[in-house]
Amino acid sequence: MSDAPSPDDDPERRAFAAHCASWLAAHTPEPPPFALPATPLEVQTEQQLEWLRAWQRACWQAELVGCDVPREYGGHGRRGLQATATRALAARGAPFLVNLVALQMACPTILAHGSDAQKRRFVPGCLSADEIWCQGFSEPNAGSDLANVQARATLRDGVWRVDGHKVWTTLARFADWMILLARTEPDAQKHAGLTYFLCPIKGQRGVTVRPLVKLTGELGFNEVLFDDVELADELRLDERGRGWQVAMTTLLHERGAADSAGGGLAVPAAQLDALVALARRVERGGRPAIEDPWVRDRIVSLMITARGLAANAERAREPALCDHPLRLPLQAKVLTTEWAQALAHLGMELQGAAGALSAADPSAGDGGAWPRAYLGSYGMTIAAGTSEIQRNILAERVLELPRHR
Ligand SMILES: Cc1cc2nc3c(=O)[nH]c(=O)nc-3n(C[C@H](O)[C@H](O)[C@H](O)COP(=O)(O)OP(=O)(O)OC[C@H]3O[C@@H](n4cnc5c(N)ncnc54)[C@H](O)[C@@H]3O)c2cc1C
Repeated sequence: MSDAPSPDDDPERRAFAAHCASWLAAHTPEPPPFALPATPLEVQTEQQLEWLRAWQRACWQAELVGCDVPREYGGHGRRGLQATATRALAARGAPFLVNLVALQMACPTILAHGSDAQKRRFVPGCLSADEIWCQGFSEPNAGSDLANVQARATLRDGVWRVDGHKVWTTLARFADWMILLARTEPDAQKHAGLTYFLCPIKGQRGVTVRPLVKLTGELGFNEVLFDDVELADELRLDERGRGWQVAMTTLLHERGAADSAGGGLAVPAAQLDALVALARRVERGGRPAIEDPWVRDRIVSLMITARGLAANAERAREPALCDHPLRLPLQAKVLTTEWAQALAHLGMELQGAAGALSAADPSAGDGGAWPRAYLGSYGMTIAAGTSEIQRNILAERVLELPRHR
């Protein structure tokens, strides 16, 4: 056994955890009089957005967001403490941070690849949620095969002009800015022909955002069309032709491989609590479902996986315990999303026939939350790279098995 102190023995971290817990106890708001979306992927109205924006701003002002980010870029300059704040937010069951794409993707990518001017201009708005971001990577023929991006940016008289079609763009309807991957060198080998931009969306001439309806009946993602959109060269991130390398930084953070400004992947303990509460409330064979051995067995199995995921998240923070940088993050992405799916499925089953009713049906139990969570869970096993793709990467790059083609 190592004698190295565990993170919780660190006095600064302990004091900060206490600050987070006491601030959250005093300031976590009561739910608003209107329904909130389950995740940032389902924000549907300005009213929801503004309520959630105010919450993120309050968390940032209280130093629970942007802990690891240097002060000159709007952060709090307290390196290594974001994970503590993220855990405190999850433990409190606090509302989520709405500027998800900014915190998890744009901000860490700008910090890694941006100029000083770009960091000063964009990072503070990511943290405070003053500027909402979306991610323009996927296209109708570029999803798993991201390097096939066809949106084109052409440099004419020092100004880029963008044409193309992005799809599945979460939050685009509300977004001020987009992290945009576009093809700038059409004759280069496909990974080498891409460049990464920070592109204004709201009110930008030539940009059309069209909402898409999801399986759950909610709006969430969108398609975004670019028609001769002008983009200043100062909005290029990193060098021309290095878009693939920059996008890999984004994906590493999106898949939880590093604690980003808003924190890495947190196991959603609140969902497990809600499931246990449901199992206590509903009956199976004339008795509370929680007393049924089959139900108990499935709940315990979900709890064991949740404990394993939490332990892996701790382990991922100790470099000496990580043999390959992708192993734990990719495992966590696959297991957390599939765990959430199994949990929502059990919740739906426990509701019996009522579990088939949609959120719009007044007799749906819990406002239709379980079937909505179950249908929505499929999106999470697809977003940020499908489970099949994560398994391919784990097999080929981590386990070094032969390539599939
Ligand atoms: C909820 C949600 C939010 C999203 N938000 C955004 C966003 O904000 N911005 C953005 O840019 N994108 C977003 N996406 C898009 C997401 O990144 C893509 O859907 C994803 O990368 C898969 O691409 P695709 O949909 O084109 O499917 P495809 O790549 O066409 O895949 C179809 C099927 O084939 C399988 N498959 C493909 N290639 C292989 C292979 N080599 N081996 C094994 N199986 C394979 C896949 O696993 C999948 O089951 C979002 C998606 C969802 C569901």
